[in-house]
Amino acid sequence: MWTDTPYGWHSMLSSSLNLKLLNPREVISAVINAWKKYSLDLSTVEGFIRQILGWREYIRGVYWGKMPDYGTQNYFAQSTALPAWFWTGKTKMRCLELSLGQSLEHAYAHHIQRLMVIGNFSLLAGLNPSEVHQWYLGVYIDAFEWVELPNTIGMSQFADGGMLATKPYVSSAAYIDRQGDYCKGCHYDKKKREGERACPFNALYWDFFDRHRNKLADNFRLAMVYRNLDKMDEQALNALRTQANKTRSQLESL
Ligand SMILES: Cc1cc2nc3c(=O)[nH]c(=O)nc-3n(C[C@H](O)[C@H](O)[C@H](O)COP(=O)(O)OP(=O)(O)OC[C@H]3O[C@@H](n4cnc5c(N)ncnc54)[C@H](O)[C@@H]3O)c2cc1C
Ligand code: SF4
Repeated sequence: MWTDTPYGWHSMLSSSLNLKLLNPREVISAVINAWKKYSLDLSTVEGFIRQILGWREYIRGVYWGKMPDYGTQNYFAQSTALPAWFWTGKTKMRCLELSLGQSLEHAYAHHIQRLMVIGNFSLLAGLNPSEVHQWYLGVYIDAFEWVELPNTIGMSQFADGGMLATKPYVSSAAYIDRQGDYCKGCHYDKKKREGERACPFNALYWDFFDRHRNKLADNFRLAMVYRNLDKMDEQALNALRTQANKTRSQLESL
């Protein structure tokens, strides 16, 4: 995730595939031919094919197998409306400013921006998953409900309780910082958990796992998170809860 690099090294093939201008088999054959012709690195080729043959087909199966009930699920009973800056990109959080900004400008964001910035924030902030789904459906050039909805409701918002994904895709600032340069020059401090300039992701992250202990603590993929949470003393935990509540009560001004 690099500033002024909206497309990175992604293929931008999703809209053509979803519109059926390209057949997935055609894309996979072309990639295999290129692999042979140019002696490309196998792991790169395999990774790309897996997105189309693996993830895309899996998502398609979930939609046609689980709808219509799948679309209205709300495992964490989240009800907050999307802040208005989802439609302008005007927020002091640089990662969201850039990811939302390019989504609105180009109708495109790559997977990590969709999942680990916009979706991550939506889940941690308690936004209503149906509204989040409507936003993704309205914004992206490749948004067709059969592919957008399971990605949003299942993979990104865990609103299906873990039918599609094995754990919620959420993170604090440290992960976002490791993925690129967005935290540099942000109004917020990626290392701080409390105070006016603390990165909102930090307190929201711990508070999310604290609030949803009864629904998530048994998940073996989250064992480490809960071990770390259990090591915090009550005072530290209360400070995080207070910070997270404050953040959630002033989403519009973040
Ligand atoms: C919340 C959320 C909403 C999304 N909504 C859509 C959507 O409406 N339409 C859509 O096509 N994809 C969606 N995706 C999946 C993925 O982000 C996009 O397919 C990808 O970013 C498109 O850019 P690209 O063509 O440059 O992809 P690349 O990174 O170059 O990947 C190659 C191809 O793999 C396929 N692919 C990769 N991951 C997925 C996935 N999780 N599900 C389905 N196909 C995948 C796509 O066809 C893509 O073109 C969503 C992901 C998230 C987290
Ligand atoms: S400091 Fe926090 S809000 Fe700012 S860019 Fe990094 S993760 Fe995003």
